[in-house]
Amino acid sequence: MICLGIESTAHTFGVGIVNDKGKVLANVTDAYKTEKGGIHPTEAKLHHENVKDEVIESALNQAKLELKDIDLISFSQGPGLAPCLLVGLKKAIELSKKLNAPLIGVNHCIAHLEIGKLLTKAKDPILLYPSGANTQVIAYEVGKYRVFGETLDQGVGNFIDSFARHIGLGFPGGPKIEKLALRGKNYVELPYVVKGMDVSFSGILTNLKQKYDSKKYKIEDLAFSLQETVFAMLVEVAERAMAHTGKKELVLGGGVACNKRLQEMCRIMCQERNAKFFVPPNEFLVDNGAMISWQGILQRKQATKNYKKINIRPYERTDDVEVMWV
Ligand code: AMP
Ligand code: MG
Repeated sequence: MICLGIESTAHTFGVGIVNDKGKVLANVTDAYKTEKGGIHPTEAKLHHENVKDEVIESALNQAKLELKDIDLISFSQGPGLAPCLLVGLKKAIELSKKLNAPLIGVNHCIAHLEIGKLLTKAKDPILLYPSGANTQVIAYEVGKYRVFGETLDQGVGNFIDSFARHIGLGFPGGPKIEKLALRGKNYVELPYVVKGMDVSFSGILTNLKQKYDSKKYKIEDLAFSLQETVFAMLVEVAERAMAHTGKKELVLGGGVACNKRLQEMCRIMCQERNAKFFVPPNEFLVDNGAMISWQGILQRKQATKNYKKINIRPYERTDDVEVMWV
């Protein structure tokens, strides 16, 4: 069985093709970017409209398949930006009807975790999922993927992007801040906000903007201190979830997980507690269609052609989903 999966929760329009053995046959993405400013939902939606057919075609080419070889269609149902999600839903229904193939909507955050398991062979990991809009620590317990800790305001990626925007860097800001941070030498004290198992970034953002505007600090030092502070917060809550659940594996997912310093900090924490640490390749950390496709395969028994039953779920939470495939 071969599944074509569509990702369109936010900035990325992605199409993946995966078979039921877990072999990734194609993974093609086209991401909306800006020189200045953040994601504008309507513009991101237009971006997806413009690229969707090309992305599907290049995924089929990469897999050396034709549309008629596809048996199942999956799409990202949520959480995400409604205008963007609707592009994916509409295209998924169109393909499903054309191919007479069943359709399945899947949860984006859970797809990050399952592709991590598939690619790393982790069995029952804690997922640290720092991305643009989401920041969660997730693990399986009694029938569901539970959220053990999360951001109380914005995702860590949006936080980094907002600061990057404030200092005149475009979107996405994460990779640019990572580069700047490499040249930072002095740690500048920032608020450290962990509340129980949760984290919060808005106060740190205000503080960083004030420090930047005061012109008293080197920008490299601020970028360095930003990373050291918020990544330590993420590693702390991930470690506490590991201690609480007794789980011995940590997997990363989400765009911010591409950051080498965050990876290094996670690796050290896992070494210190004799746990295994796994990082999938970057193309599977950022939003991508392959993870949606694999999630479709996992949930194939729930696929349907009853289109009235299928809709987007912009506010769906990880623990809303009944996990019937684990
Ligand atoms: P996602 O929503 O999972 O696709 O992730 C997108 C987010 O990842 C954006 O906020 C980016 O700024 C961030 N990001 C991408 N690469 C890096 C990096 N190397 N370091 C930090 N953040 C990154
Ligand atoms: Mg994501």
